[in-house]
Amino acid sequence: MSAKIIDGKAIAARIKENAAKDAAEVARAIGRKPCLAVVIVGEDPASRVYVNNKKKACEACGITSLEYALPEQTSQEELLALIDRLDRDDAVDGVLCQLPLPAHISEEKVIEAISPDKDVDGFHPVNVGKMVTGGEGFLPCTPAGLIEMLKYEGIETAGKRCVVIGRSNIVGKPAALLMLRENATVTVCHSRTNGLKEIVREADIVIAAVGRPKFVTADMLKPGAVVLDVGINRLPDRTLCGDVDFAAASETVSAITPVPGGVGPMTVAMLMKNTVEAARRRARASL
Ligand code: NAD
Repeated sequence: MSAKIIDGKAIAARIKENAAKDAAEVARAIGRKPCLAVVIVGEDPASRVYVNNKKKACEACGITSLEYALPEQTSQEELLALIDRLDRDDAVDGVLCQLPLPAHISEEKVIEAISPDKDVDGFHPVNVGKMVTGGEGFLPCTPAGLIEMLKYEGIETAGKRCVVIGRSNIVGKPAALLMLRENATVTVCHSRTNGLKEIVREADIVIAAVGRPKFVTADMLKPGAVVLDVGINRLPDRTLCGDVDFAAASETVSAITPVPGGVGPMTVAMLMKNTVEAARRRARASL
């Protein structure tokens, strides 16, 4: 069997088109474009690429993007003071601080300093809580992007066995919770899981978020399964590769996301969607 390659770039482009339409509508209502403030601390090259991508997407969607690039040695107090200023600024709808942060700064404190209604990354404990209970908060962009991809592709989730490999706060855990919300039967595997191969082999839908190149091999996958590969790994020859052995897996599964061009573009698209939604909700709340 040859798998359907899920085109994340194309799906992300449609989500951004919709976000642009919504942004224009919100702008007409509030008299200015929705606005996203992005803070980056230090010189991590991957973070720089992500922040540039976010800026470009904002421009394409009609969202004002403010960037604050702070030096590596910025103190936690200085960073928190900036976040507080942006958080109080009425002309700013979404605030995010690019992770990871330098070791001397507490990510937890920074995340908690952003009001839940401006937390477009969906990392604040209030938004995490709402994700768990099903309330209306902001969902984290990468896991929300996974669900969006499944919906666009018309892939049934209800009653399906889903195995998530990875339990990080930004991908694995929220992906599992969102799949549960979509009525899948969910198992989460991690670095201490025994019998990983047998568990993954039972899955109708596999979400791989490990951060190890070609960790998931074709023999671990049930024929006909759907595979969403979140991993972004840089190989010694500088090319990018996912957590799944894409070439071999695509011979046996029914649908699979490539790396690059799969899950990656969805994250920024969902951020645009969240930012426009933040502007809309804030406008509604001020009426
Ligand atoms: P992480 O390092 O925080 O978590 C990795 C997880 O993998 C851990 O929960 C760990 O338990 C699990 N793991 C490690 N070794 C394992 C093993 N042998 N067996 C089973 N599980 C094992 O990473 P993360 O932040 O969740 O990111 C995972 C990957 O996704 C990375 O490659 C990252 O670059 C990528 N990522 C992509 C996007 C995107 O596409 N937009 C966003 C975030 C992360």
